Amino acid sequence: MLKLRDLDVFYGDAQALWDVTMEVHKGEIVTLLGSNGAGKTTTLKTISGLLHPRKGEIFLDHIRLDKIEPSNIIKYGIAHVPEGRRLFPNMTVMENLLIGAFHAGAWGSRFDTIQGIYTLFPILAERKKQLAGTLSGGEQQMLAIGRALMSEPTLLMLDEPSLGLAPKVVETIFQVISDINKKGTTILLIEQNAHLSLQVAHRGYVMETGRISLEGKASELMADEYVKKAYLGM
Ligand code: ATP
Repeated sequence: MLKLRDLDVFYGDAQALWDVTMEVHKGEIVTLLGSNGAGKTTTLKTISGLLHPRKGEIFLDHIRLDKIEPSNIIKYGIAHVPEGRRLFPNMTVMENLLIGAFHAGAWGSRFDTIQGIYTLFPILAERKKQLAGTLSGGEQQMLAIGRALMSEPTLLMLDEPSLGLAPKVVETIFQVISDINKKGTTILLIEQNAHLSLQVAHRGYVMETGRISLEGKASELMADEYVKKAYLGM
């Protein structure tokens, strides 16, 4: 479904990614693991068109994605839940959700889609008239995921959904990620918490200093001695 081939990405003169090659197959949850500054967010931003690779190609099925403007990427079925959530704090939960549907393909079905999101996250239905800025961190993460789902994506990309949240909330969020995937959405998940992400993912990649250093089935990575030591604290 998604193919990244030999990507080199720079911030000005500073290179952040070297020869990044990875694939996400339809129906999978793929996790990209790595410590702070490894290049995970840069990879997602490049897929979303916010950064342009200096070398390499990105394909979504047969579409050359790295030639498409970021504002149009969503029309190809890709939604990105950014690190830090980027909600509109002075707008209500429902208004934030509606913004997620604001492109031609998803607007007509927005009220049906919202009902589906309220089923996934019942707390958002209870809080639908509340300002987003007054929600707890966990509720804000749920809203950020809900807003991305409003565009009815085929590929959902999540950047560190567990960041700063209490373990119980993280458990709920990961359960929902798994449910969303079972309903047919392909997921690319960036996480520092390798325990969680390898439990939910089918396959994974490990990124270190801007390069992919390891890849495999989630079960293989969990059993890998290096991954155990470096990422699972075992
Ligand atoms: P984190 O979990 O801390 O976000 P990450 O794996 O997502 O880590 P990136 O944010 O992709 O890492 O950063 C990769 C490299 O690019 C790092 O060396 C970082 O310092 C650098 N970098 C990131 N954003 C910028 C920027 N706006 N300008 C210059 N360098 C940047």
